[in-house]
Amino acid sequence: MLDNNFFDFNPKLLELAVKVEYDCKENFAEIEEIAEYNGAKVLSAFINNRVGESCFYGSSGYGYGDTGRDTLDRVYSEVMGAEDALARHNFVSGTHALSVALFGVLRTGDKIVAITGKPYDTLEEVIGISGVDGKGSLKDFGITYNQVDLLEDGQVDIDGIKNAVKGVKVAYIQKSRGYTLRPTYTTDDIAEMVKAVKEVSPNTIIMVDNCYGEFVEKCEPTNVGADLIIGSLIKNPGGGIAKTGGYIAGRKDLVELCANRLTCVGIGKDIGCTLSQNKEMFMGLFFAPDVVANANKTATFAMELLTRLGFECFPKRNEKRGDIITAVRLGNEDLITAFCQGIQKGAPVDSYIAPEAWEMPGYESKVIMAAGAFNMGASIELSADAPIREPFAVWLQGGITYTSGKIGVMLAVQEMISRGLISL
Ligand SMILES: *Cc1c(COP(=O)(O)O)cnc(C)c1O
Repeated sequence: MLDNNFFDFNPKLLELAVKVEYDCKENFAEIEEIAEYNGAKVLSAFINNRVGESCFYGSSGYGYGDTGRDTLDRVYSEVMGAEDALARHNFVSGTHALSVALFGVLRTGDKIVAITGKPYDTLEEVIGISGVDGKGSLKDFGITYNQVDLLEDGQVDIDGIKNAVKGVKVAYIQKSRGYTLRPTYTTDDIAEMVKAVKEVSPNTIIMVDNCYGEFVEKCEPTNVGADLIIGSLIKNPGGGIAKTGGYIAGRKDLVELCANRLTCVGIGKDIGCTLSQNKEMFMGLFFAPDVVANANKTATFAMELLTRLGFECFPKRNEKRGDIITAVRLGNEDLITAFCQGIQKGAPVDSYIAPEAWEMPGYESKVIMAAGAFNMGASIELSADAPIREPFAVWLQGGITYTSGKIGVMLAVQEMISRGLISL
């Protein structure tokens, strides 16, 4: 039981945390069961693909014959239930990996339809939904974009999807909620979307932004028919250990097109030195199922605690989790600032810094981000961010250990209490 040996929590908050944790028991057991399943999946992929010491040497220059790189791709493919994969430190972010996948697959005259509503903020400029013409978006290359809006309850519009995807090149799904309060889609939801698309348009490529979704469930979208999934290695699959990078996994022919876009035609996956990043990428993937479980326990604890304090949380108590996020509708900027600065106070790194909202590149409004992480900006580590705009909610995710995640969440609440913004 957490006491005030090392921190100075309001005694009522300490008491409340005990009750909250008790209420989380069943959820925690389920999270651990999923971690065991995914841990076994990852371990067997390491064994089946003969991961050995030689995989960790890394390479420089062209990186010809880098066995670590090639083995990591095979391990990722097996774990994701895909034909092939491209896991590289060269992806500078999740957005970059998504952009490579989009430009890799789409050609002038093609159409892309987002079937889960408007994509994540940073994708807007990539696609050309916002931003200035002439900077090299998909739109500049003559690729047209359309979207199927969500129904009022946040679920996808299956009839609308069937009407919109006939003959289009790419149907685009975003699993996680992004900076919205719509539900995160589970793999079962995605299976239904896949079925709807393939029924009317069997050749349409189904691409899934899988950011924050990896290892939260027993299956990945590729296990239920998605053609291509994309994610960031400073989120779930990097396990808090990979220093940077991203991955693309899916159909072999499509992964080849993506590799040709990341490097160039004629080179594809054959070149690309790994410097000294291989070991961290392997170790990160190995740790990922358990680290994701810690993040999910943190997210569940936060949801229970903040729900009890009267804030609306997403997902709600009995909703199935599809990602590691808990979104909390705090209602105003003061609460958001207190919450984020409280989270930062509990960070193992940069705890003494107070984050402020600023105009981040790629985002349409000011954003405040609390992230005191070993890897800069890594949101598999406990982090909270919020665009300063309606609905004045904060998106909380990560926690590579549950203890630090729980303490971080409690410090966020403590900060709101200390500033007189809430009372217990
Ligand atoms: C994090 C995230 C991305 C990519 O963001 P980066 O900061 O570029 O890694 C894309 N889509 C969703 C839903 C995300 O959560």
